Parts: sequence; structure tokens; C-alpha cells
Amino acid sequence: MFKTRFAPSPTGFLHIGGARTCLFSWLYARANGGTFVLRIEDTDTGRSKKEYLDEIIESIRWLGMDWDELYHQSDRFDMYRQYARQLIEEGKACEKEGAIFFKYEFSQIEIDDLIRGNIIFNELPKKEEVIIKSDGSPTYNFSCVIDDALGGITCVVRGEDHIPNTPKQILMYQALGFGVPVFAHVPLILSPEGGRLSKRFGATSIREYRNMGYLADALVNYLILLGWSPGENREIISLAEAQKYFDISRVNKSRAVFSLDKLNWLNAEYVKQYDKDRLGDVVIDFLRAKDFLPESYDKGYIIKVMALFEGRITTLQDIIDRAYFCFCDDYGYDEDTREILKKDYSGQILVLKDTLSQLTDFGCAAIEKEFRAVCERVGLKVRELVHPVRVALTGKKVGPGLFEAMEVLGKEKVIERLTKLISFWKEEGQE
Ligand code: GLU
Repeated sequence: MFKTRFAPSPTGFLHIGGARTCLFSWLYARANGGTFVLRIEDTDTGRSKKEYLDEIIESIRWLGMDWDELYHQSDRFDMYRQYARQLIEEGKACEKEGAIFFKYEFSQIEIDDLIRGNIIFNELPKKEEVIIKSDGSPTYNFSCVIDDALGGITCVVRGEDHIPNTPKQILMYQALGFGVPVFAHVPLILSPEGGRLSKRFGATSIREYRNMGYLADALVNYLILLGWSPGENREIISLAEAQKYFDISRVNKSRAVFSLDKLNWLNAEYVKQYDKDRLGDVVIDFLRAKDFLPESYDKGYIIKVMALFEGRITTLQDIIDRAYFCFCDDYGYDEDTREILKKDYSGQILVLKDTLSQLTDFGCAAIEKEFRAVCERVGLKVRELVHPVRVALTGKKVGPGLFEAMEVLGKEKVIERLTKLISFWKEEGQE
């Protein structure tokens, strides 16, 4: 039987580092046909919050992982106290001022960590350790040992910040008469400046990345590469594939440095590779979460918008930033378009508007043909008219192919926006 676990404390949102630990633990179980347990370490009832718990579970699921068991340590306080009493009876623990202390004799402890290799602990600073606090709640080291042992966890995968806890825990396993599992301590993730990945660096939680428009598949792929590699310089790997090849002993011992550039690159790759339908779904989810989805949206329209920006999207947030004009009418003209709008082309645009309004086929080829014909008629170069029309339709100086954008927007909107530009020039002229 092969069993691993992830044991988050719901005292904060799921952090990039925690997610990667969860992922490695999950992959290790799945790669070996084993069981994966989600254990909520909510013994600190003051700091644990339901909001965090819900978000942690949601993020794990969003990233594509599942679990076979889920339990909360807060439901098991009686059991931890029972084991503490057993230790008192056996003379291995004592009670002082309402708290229970585990007493130990320390001699050298050695572990064979699956990632770090051999680790030898030569001393522990104290001779006793609180296991049950005076409020009756267990301490992390104690509840962790009992749950890992009773749950039959064969390998404890966790962050390397827990290495110093390991010898204490081993003494507890031994005192309680339990077998000691194998350990795999996952290195920390560093910020590009070298320090711990902290708030100072920027976004650290999975929900923030989700909010910024990263795809779960891209983020998971990125986390997989942070310390592990499928080999052959492969960089694009799905969770399903990583499950087949993952080998925890090949996780890099040295700390991985977080690179937003790499994550951006991966995200753009996934956006490119997704089929239209799937991309449509994730975009809809994203826009909905942002309260940005217009009331009357239709998936076909979203798919067309995405096609318009093909190859230009890094994060889904780019859709809101760049394709704003595809969803909303309330944009102004960007500051840097002033130069383009300096010259008044009202007359020529009026001709264009009339011509376009008579088009029955509003496909981009037909639009382009008419647009060119109008330019010829009014004596302008195509690009002279393209620029102000683009500003009218998008509010911006640069954007996707103009005729394609016109097709996506549809005749009515195009005419409306050209009319708006003519009024803009009129008002400017009066000032
Ligand atoms: N609740 C601990 C943490 O969030 C878990 C440590 C462990 O996996 O043993 O760091």
C-alpha cells in the first residue's frame, strides 16, 4: 500500500510553495498507484478560517488534483488527548500547568530522505516538547505524527522548512510504538532576488494567479517544472502525463527560483494550444469571475474574439485589457491616439459608413474590398483611413486585424462607432 498526504493549515490561502508540495505529494501517490490524503491541520482554532479552507480546497481542485480521503484534525482532539494520556501512563510524558509535555532522551537520528538523501540530526535543544496545550488542543508535531501513523502514510512529502521537526517527530513515533514513514522534503521556492517567495515579491497565492488570468494547466505545468523535469528538455507536460513519469527521487535538492517570464511563456503556449471550445470555456469562467461577462454573451462570440487575438494573449487578463472594445462601448480614445485623430476625416468616414451600412455580407473579405474601394473613391491611401478607423472601433492605436475586428463587432457596432468618431471631431472642432 502506497499512501501520501498533503496537510495544509487553513491559516492563509494556498501558496505557490504549498501547491507545489501538494502536487509532488499527489504525483508521487498517483505515479505509484497509491492513495492521496488531504488532511486539514486546523488545530489552531484561533487562526484557522473557513474562508482559507474553502479556498485551499478550491485551488487544489482547480489545479486538477483530487484526493481519496479528507479529514480535519479539529474533529480528532479527543483522540490526540488519549494518546497523550497513554504516554503519561507509560512515563513518557508529564502534565504541567494544564499542558502535556513529551519527555525524551535524544541520541543521534538519521533519515534517508527521498529528495535530500541522508540527513543526520546530532542534537535537539530541549528535553521535552509540548504535545497538548493547556486549552486541550494538540501541537503540530504530535497530531501530525498520530495522523500519519494511524492513516498509514508511507511517505511524508512536505516542505523542507519542516526538516527541523523531523527528529522530534521520529522520537514520538517511537514512543507511541508506531513505525516511522519515509520522508521527502521538498525544497523551498525562491523569488528571483533570492529570498523566500514572500508577499514582497508580488503574488504568492494560487488564487492570485488564477485571478491574473493564468490557466490551471499552465500553472500546474510550471509548478511541475519547479524542481522536477520530465527529461529530454521537455517543458510542456500535462498533469496526466506527469503522473506516468513522476519520480520523487529525481526532484532537485536545490531551491528552485520562481520565474514569471517562464510562467508567462507557458501560459501563452497553453492558450495557443487549447482548442477553441476549451479556450472558450476557460475564458467564460474567467470573465464571469471578474464580473466582466456582458449579459448577452454567447460562446460563439467569445471564440471569435479569441481567434481575433490568436497568438497575442499571454494571460486571460489580456482579453479584458486588449479586447475591451469587443465587450464594451464605454471606452475613450487612448492618449497616444491624439496624433492620429489630429486630422479630421469626417467626410471620408461618412462615405465609408454609408458604404458599409449597405453591405449585406459583413464578412472580413467583403469589408476589406469595400474599404479599399472607398479609399480609392475619396482619394486616400488605405493606411490613412485604417488608423482613425481603428481608433474609432477599438479606442487604441494598435490592435488586431482591422477587417477581422469589424466582422467580429458586426455592422451595427461598426456604424455606431464610426458615427461616434465623427461626433468627436465635430466637438473637437468647436472647442
Ligand atoms: N500544516 C503543516 C504546514 O502547513 C504541514 C506540515 C507537514 O506536512 O507535516 O506546513
